Amino acid sequence: MTATAYTPTALPGHPHVVYRHGKLFLDGVDLNALAIEYGTPLFAYSAEAILAALAAYQRGLAGRDFMVCYAMKANSSLGILRLRAGAGCGFDIVSGGELDRVLAAGGDPAKVIFSGVGKTEAEMHQALTAGIACFNVESEQELEVLDAVARTLGLRAPVSIRVNPNVDAKTHPYISTGLKGNKFGIAHEHTLQVYQRADAMPGLRVVGIDCHIGSQITREEPYMDAMDRMLDLVEAIETAGIPIAHIDFGGGLGINYDGDQPPAADQLWPRLLKQLDARGFGQRKLLLEPGRSLVGNAGVCVSKVLYLKPGEQKNFCIVDAAMNDLPRPAMYQAYHAIVPLVQNNAPASVWEVVGPVCESGDWIGHERSLAVQRGDRVAVLSAGAYCMSMASNYNSRGRAAEILVSGASTQLIRRRETSQDQLRAELGTLPLAG
Ligand SMILES: *Cc1c(COP(=O)(O)O)cnc(C)c1O
Repeated sequence: MTATAYTPTALPGHPHVVYRHGKLFLDGVDLNALAIEYGTPLFAYSAEAILAALAAYQRGLAGRDFMVCYAMKANSSLGILRLRAGAGCGFDIVSGGELDRVLAAGGDPAKVIFSGVGKTEAEMHQALTAGIACFNVESEQELEVLDAVARTLGLRAPVSIRVNPNVDAKTHPYISTGLKGNKFGIAHEHTLQVYQRADAMPGLRVVGIDCHIGSQITREEPYMDAMDRMLDLVEAIETAGIPIAHIDFGGGLGINYDGDQPPAADQLWPRLLKQLDARGFGQRKLLLEPGRSLVGNAGVCVSKVLYLKPGEQKNFCIVDAAMNDLPRPAMYQAYHAIVPLVQNNAPASVWEVVGPVCESGDWIGHERSLAVQRGDRVAVLSAGAYCMSMASNYNSRGRAAEILVSGASTQLIRRRETSQDQLRAELGTLPLAG
């Protein structure tokens, strides 16, 4: 320790992203040094933040019978799944490919639940054979098909019905899933009748009930409303003689992007549990499917300024990360904070921060005040969820490398994708020279 006290400053709402002597660190790792070693664009994730986010749920539900199933579509990189599996976490999958990833990461299939409106027979077969905990079924036809697939295997598929509770999550329309007029779930008015059908099918075993009302939810009321509706349904279904062993309240809890202040999981859940207790369901097994809130603020994307292009109407700051790396702005008009890796006192200008992809929709941030030069690096914050897992090869751009940071140590969990990687699955190509 030096004699003079120096306090590093974490960015507000980003406790793991810290300026130390003017340089941006993720926990104990200097992001500039990391970018020099591995190149850009580069994703870096804090293992500590990833585990702390899970621990907040575990604290919030302490003393209850519960299972947290990480909605792995938020970030399905093996290095992250391994961390989760090691912490005893379950997984919420939406495809057979995700099940393969869980197994490759050493996850326990008995802690896997399978969501999604369009499961194929092949995926049902795969998941039944693996012995997953539950299928969250979203339509009557899906029930029939699952029943048939299970019977050909001589099995009974464990099922939950995903209910659409018709509550407004007060979030972006593209990420709101619990309203009428939305493709997800079964309308709550029809739920009892669908449970009666499911209960009569020999290839099915009713084990639970499920909902998921949307994403980036920053308030408590939508959860309270959904819980009330779900518990009304459980009462009606059990009165009809069908026991419901577990209740799955889905995911959806928001994170900080732009000063958002969603309740923390360990604050929200004790309050929701009070409502559960008041209605006499306190001992029921609970399942949760959080995605974003378990990884979103654990990751940053480091990018380099390629060119500055000041103009009459707008100034463009062209960086080497693009919509294929960070699809959320183009898809949902989403906001990600952008900060320099090295603090300086130069006067700032207002920039449209854009990527190299040939689309006007390829932007990372509008009207950002930054003091940057060609060659400087910036960090795009809150990039742990729905970035790398949505990344594509559009414009034949290889996907970025990913680093897991643990204290001051780093681990490359995905190397940068090469052109050979991209060509591998295509037929009739000549080998690249060199
Ligand atoms: C995407 C999804 C989740 C996770 O949502 P988050 O907002 O990331 O927490 C949970 N359940 C289902 C069914 C989903 O589709």
